[in-house]
Amino acid sequence: MSSSALVLFSGGQDSTVCLAWALARFDRVETVGFDYGQRHAAELKARPVILEKLRAAFPQWAGKLGADNLLPLDTLKAIGGSALTDAVKIEMGENGLPTTFVPGRNVMFLTAAAALGYRRGIATLVGGMCETDFSGYPDCRNETVQVTARALSLGMARDIKVHTPLMWIDKAATWQLAQELGGAKLVDLIVTDTVTCYEGNPTPHDWGHGCGTCPSCELRASGYRKYRAA
Ligand code: ZN
Repeated sequence: MSSSALVLFSGGQDSTVCLAWALARFDRVETVGFDYGQRHAAELKARPVILEKLRAAFPQWAGKLGADNLLPLDTLKAIGGSALTDAVKIEMGENGLPTTFVPGRNVMFLTAAAALGYRRGIATLVGGMCETDFSGYPDCRNETVQVTARALSLGMARDIKVHTPLMWIDKAATWQLAQELGGAKLVDLIVTDTVTCYEGNPTPHDWGHGCGTCPSCELRASGYRKYRAA
């Protein structure tokens, strides 16, 4: 029996590394992205480009890489209030969380992915949630993810597994993991084509495109420097 996985693929660095991780382990890999009314469509635009380049650069993965799915989750936009969905300044909020926090986002993503997987015969999900140097988002915590997986397993009467290969590693180690999975070719693809910047800024740097100053760019850049220095 062949093994399959559905990767939560946003077009960012983390989810691209997760996709490579899944392609190295499973026989069939599908991807799912979410259009939740994010202010900057740069990530969504990057998704098909990354998939096409992965297919071209890694023939050993091309045959495993199946359908890409894009689902609308505009409920998150309708609720609004986040710097990712509305014209809100990126800063630390009074609740101790950055204004980029979108309440319930990862729980909704996992729920929608599991439902899609139900229809497509895939019970294994892979996501880039990370507890190590995250921005304090409570829905990135391992406990949140695994308890959600348990709830989804009960709610869909099947054993749903969620793998989070980045959960316990920092950004430098994420770059290193890309190197191990796909060598310089994969690292270059991530630098050139993945989008992490909260502002969707296209300015090029050695670590990739971005404004260079938002928390997401800072994390990516400092991780890249540490990885290069190692
Ligand atoms: Zn940025």
